[in-house]
Amino acid sequence: MTGSIYRFGKGSAEGKFSDLPAIGLRGAYLSEMAALGLPVPPGFVISMDACTKLDKHKSDILEALDWLSRETGLRLGDPTWPLFLAARPSPLKTIPGLLGAVLNIGFNDATAQNLARAVPDSRYSYENYCKFIQNYAHIVMGDDTATFDDLTQMLLDERSYVNAGEMRGEDYLELIARYKAQAESHDGQAFPQDAVTQVNAVITALSRSWNAPRTKAHRKIHGLSDSGIAIVVQAMVFGNRTPTSGTGIVTSRHAASGQAGLFGEFLERAQGPERIAKLRPSTTIDDWRDKSPESVRELAASAARLETYLRDAVEIEFTLDNGALHLLDARPAPRTALAALKTSVDMTKAGLITQEEAVLRVDPQSLGQLLHATVDAGAKKEMIASGLPASPGAASGMIVFDIEEAHRLSVQGLKVMLVRTETLPEDIRGLHGAEGVLTSRGGMTSHAAVIARGMGKPCVAGASAIRIDAANGTLTTPAGVLKRHELITIDGSSGQVFRGAVPTIKPSLSGDFATLLKWSDSFRRMKVRANAETPRDAQAAREFGAEGIGLVRTEHMFFEGDRIIAMREMILADKEDERRAALAKIEPMLQQDFETLFRIMAGLPVTIRLLDPPLHEFLPESPSELEAVAKSLSVAPDILRRRVAELSEKNPMLGHRGVRLLLSFPEITEMQARAVFNAAIVVAKETGTPTVPEIMVPLVVAKSELDLIRKRIDTIAAEVERSSGVKVSYLVGTMIELPRAALRAGEIAQSAEFFSFGTNDLTQTTFGISRDDSASFIGAYTSRGVFARDPFISLDIEGVGELIEIAVDRGRASQPGLALGICGEHGGDPYTISFCERLLLDYVSCSPFRVPIARLAAAQATLRSASNLK
Ligand code: PEP
Ligand code: MG
Repeated sequence: MTGSIYRFGKGSAEGKFSDLPAIGLRGAYLSEMAALGLPVPPGFVISMDACTKLDKHKSDILEALDWLSRETGLRLGDPTWPLFLAARPSPLKTIPGLLGAVLNIGFNDATAQNLARAVPDSRYSYENYCKFIQNYAHIVMGDDTATFDDLTQMLLDERSYVNAGEMRGEDYLELIARYKAQAESHDGQAFPQDAVTQVNAVITALSRSWNAPRTKAHRKIHGLSDSGIAIVVQAMVFGNRTPTSGTGIVTSRHAASGQAGLFGEFLERAQGPERIAKLRPSTTIDDWRDKSPESVRELAASAARLETYLRDAVEIEFTLDNGALHLLDARPAPRTALAALKTSVDMTKAGLITQEEAVLRVDPQSLGQLLHATVDAGAKKEMIASGLPASPGAASGMIVFDIEEAHRLSVQGLKVMLVRTETLPEDIRGLHGAEGVLTSRGGMTSHAAVIARGMGKPCVAGASAIRIDAANGTLTTPAGVLKRHELITIDGSSGQVFRGAVPTIKPSLSGDFATLLKWSDSFRRMKVRANAETPRDAQAAREFGAEGIGLVRTEHMFFEGDRIIAMREMILADKEDERRAALAKIEPMLQQDFETLFRIMAGLPVTIRLLDPPLHEFLPESPSELEAVAKSLSVAPDILRRRVAELSEKNPMLGHRGVRLLLSFPEITEMQARAVFNAAIVVAKETGTPTVPEIMVPLVVAKSELDLIRKRIDTIAAEVERSSGVKVSYLVGTMIELPRAALRAGEIAQSAEFFSFGTNDLTQTTFGISRDDSASFIGAYTSRGVFARDPFISLDIEGVGELIEIAVDRGRASQPGLALGICGEHGGDPYTISFCERLLLDYVSCSPFRVPIARLAAAQATLRSASNLK
């Protein structure tokens, strides 16, 4: 080894897996395979560093070629049977379609003719020379490969041949002459006949094309911007030489299920690129086993050996050259979430890897595939639109534009797909019954998206190319117009919308899934809670392993059934006693809701947020709705209309909401606090397990705001204690969801027992970007790299993260026991979770269906930070 060249051959290699940063993935795998004694054609890797200074390493490469010659007993350019070479790129990871390989290096006029005479089928020799010229012209000269295919077709036409099978020796010689002329037309130089000249030109071209603009763009997408390329030069083996030759690809485990065994495909009489281009159908390994049991047995043994040695499922490319097996490349096997899970758990049980490694190997985000139904990949489908993948899962249902109709039809047991321009809080009734929701407006944290995620229903949001005409009952898509009640399928994991009911596959959450999460829990430091307000969500949260509720958005409780009527009465009331009377009607229902939540959570912490949204959200919008509501409330439509106008705000998100509303209407806080305390007493009595409710105040920017609300809560607690004779325990805390709150966290913490970071609003207000309107332009920011990620999905660590860090430091400094959590949508995002671990937050809280993702991500964050500390 010279530090620039790493040789590998029969039973030995200079490189190791740990040299991967220098020799790339292909180089590392080939080296390990060779060292294991697996049948790898000998070769050498030109390191990434050497590839940047090829001139300096010319003699090293020549020396390596000499060594290869000795190793194979073949000589470059030998007139009888020369050494042929293949040169392949070796980047840090496999990127399909990045840079091609150059095969058959060493063919020239003489070798092609000599070989044609030496083998039973001369076509093989001529064809390989043609392929080499084409391949060389493409990689070294940038020629379009299609030009060469046209030359072949022209010759076939001239000779009136139906296909290339009819070509004879002299035809090939003519074709070779034309191919060479085409290649020579680039620089006027004769097509190189010398193998060393050929291989040097190929190496130079491959290393240069790594920095070509097209490749650079491709690399950036795959996160390889800053790394280089190594090149593997290897003795050629031929998959197209004889009837017992061919090429194939296998995995040591099934890519979809993770089942151990040999799976893959084989193409007779072909070289790798032909298999990849799928010019002819290949046979499965099982079919091929019948024909050639010996080679499949050897392949299976090699795959199993490599898997055990590398302790990971592998994918192997191989060639059978006249019956002899050669392994040409290997890499980690591609796998679905299910396969990753099974592979990790199986390998742990077999003692190959530790539980920590198993936990670190599964991508938390991919668990989403297992928690939700998925569109059957093999099913026939017609995509008619696309939008943001706002809530994962796949579902089909009949198009319904109207909330009431959605509710009515779902009660009748029909499957409904709610299709709306956007959704409003009162739409929750329709959402409950729907299979999923499709909106033409709104981003990842728009109301529809947040609610759908919470309910574990699929949602495609912001499908801006669709037009909804609810009055005429039509949905116009780029693929045509669909009518009300026609069936569609949405895939909330990809954002795709399909015509008709596309078959879906149901999830399974036991077995390996449960095992891996159990292991995760044993490593995890942070707690994982869920954002939930309905019994169904709370139940789901527990089943997914939530350790409490981090956010009960109580506003949703005000929309259910008759409550909205009482709520509207309260809003219409002019005097405080009238408001109190209206709220008193809601209180027992709310208390029951809290009792149910406390029962389900059985003593686990529950954080209840006081009413947050502006009051106008509870009032009707359209004139017809307004008339109907006025009638039901027995008030004149004009009075209702006036009140709606009074409450309307230009910027309701930044207006009269959250703590501001609670300061204007303290009776709302009082009613909610009373319902919470009484519910806690009832459930504690009934179950013997006390719940310590955590009451959370939204949108606070100053300690004095929190103090005013806290005083009301304390007064109610004292009142409830007096009337019930039971001591009430509770915590009061605040959301930190505005930049000022983060900056003034030191003071605010003096009045709070806990902080919960509301990163949806904190992101919105830090960026000054509306969370409901960002979808239409944020894509332009992420695609141009202005933002690395959508800040509404993955926390903006640099900006919003700094505010959180400030709040954590200042909060802890003034209140050492302060409990800290996050409850914005980011709480279920693995990237954000590792940031939360860094700040040593106590918990993350997310939608119930993201709880397993958060459990795994939190465990990985703990393990990674522990290994960083070592
Ligand atoms: C937040 O702002 O992050 C939050 C959790 O509250 P909401 O999404 O209800 O505004
Ligand atoms: Mg908020």
